[in-house]
Amino acid sequence: MKTLNGTLLQPQSPTEYTLQSNTTVRIDNDGRIAEVGHDKTAAGDVVGGADCWILPGFIDAHLHLPQWDRRGIDGYSIREWHEKVVYPAEARFADVALAELIAESFVDGVIGSGTTTVAAYGSPFGKATHRCFEVFARRGLRAIYGRMLNDVHCPDELSAPADRQLDEAREIAAKWHGAENGRLSYAFSPRQPRCCSEKLMRGAAALAEMVGCYIQTHAGESHDEVHAVRESYPDSLDDIDVFAEMGLLTKRTLLGHGVVLDHDERHQIVETQTTLVHCPTANLFLEAGLMDYVTHRKAGVRFALGSSIASGPDAFMPHVAVACLQTAKALKVHAIPRRAYPVPQAAEAWWLLTRGGAEALSMGDRVGTIAAGYEADCIIVRPEPWIAELPPENQASALLYTLKPEQIEHVFIAGKRVGPKH
Ligand SMILES: [Zn+2]
Repeated sequence: MKTLNGTLLQPQSPTEYTLQSNTTVRIDNDGRIAEVGHDKTAAGDVVGGADCWILPGFIDAHLHLPQWDRRGIDGYSIREWHEKVVYPAEARFADVALAELIAESFVDGVIGSGTTTVAAYGSPFGKATHRCFEVFARRGLRAIYGRMLNDVHCPDELSAPADRQLDEAREIAAKWHGAENGRLSYAFSPRQPRCCSEKLMRGAAALAEMVGCYIQTHAGESHDEVHAVRESYPDSLDDIDVFAEMGLLTKRTLLGHGVVLDHDERHQIVETQTTLVHCPTANLFLEAGLMDYVTHRKAGVRFALGSSIASGPDAFMPHVAVACLQTAKALKVHAIPRRAYPVPQAAEAWWLLTRGGAEALSMGDRVGTIAAGYEADCIIVRPEPWIAELPPENQASALLYTLKPEQIEHVFIAGKRVGPKH
């Protein structure tokens, strides 16, 4: 039994959250939340205190593990970024021991940022993908992960015949999907339509359906990428049309970026309940564009947030959430005439970081909420003391904009303390 004490911030919807001071959260030995209340009697290990806050752990729904130690390399177009940074970073994963070292440092980094769930891409190497899953299992991270799939328009050393890639992916999925009490999941991960043959994409869709796995891929990342897809698939209207034709738009599909999406594409995403992962820091870093979150959300798109490491330079998800708010403001004030729409507020940022992100990953019934019966994925932070002096309605916003990774004191996943190391 563990007891967490502090002010509990619990997002309830994109516009509402509750803030309860002097709250006690009790975690059972099986890693579930047993009780949320105000009982001061200590039980088991006690952490936190009156000046701490208890938050659901953050959810990062798009990032690339092999790029963990390649953050912040600026100055390239998306195409150059792939050639100079992404492909060489992935090619290193032919060395399984090196892959393991990078996976360890990745887990330290995301947990140190208060992230308890990731949906991450691996390298196009089966052995390294197994090894990274072993690291997640040992370290206690909640992860959706997959071997990168690509067989056209990519370097030879990162490619293989479609059948071989699909066999390997199926074998990894069979071992890891649902492992560790469901904490680990597999995602079939076609890189993006331009880098995948029809055979590879159709095979990934069929296997994902058969095994009940996730699918993750990139869509509408920039105008250049969309044009390139049109050249590869001239019979299709756009990225989303290609994915729909290949069977890749499902309730368990995570589409990264979606900067360039028109009305019809948006409609198809809503119809299929596909999740769009908004990566605002990466979209700006690579000059891909400013994604119109407000318009997509109004249309009913299901959203999660992604750090998009390493085209996004920052793994600390509150910074990504702030970038989501700032991007919406930039689009609003820069439009001529100025747009009238309401931009998202701090409540929506907290929602996307926690419960909303969990729902978008179809795990909202297990994590993202601090209530009895949920798996205990939560963090304890110590905000700057002046935040407690603010009117209660200003506190969550102030915390969002000022929280730093070094203020995270404890990270629990499924009730187990997993960090941070600092
Ligand atoms: Zn990506």
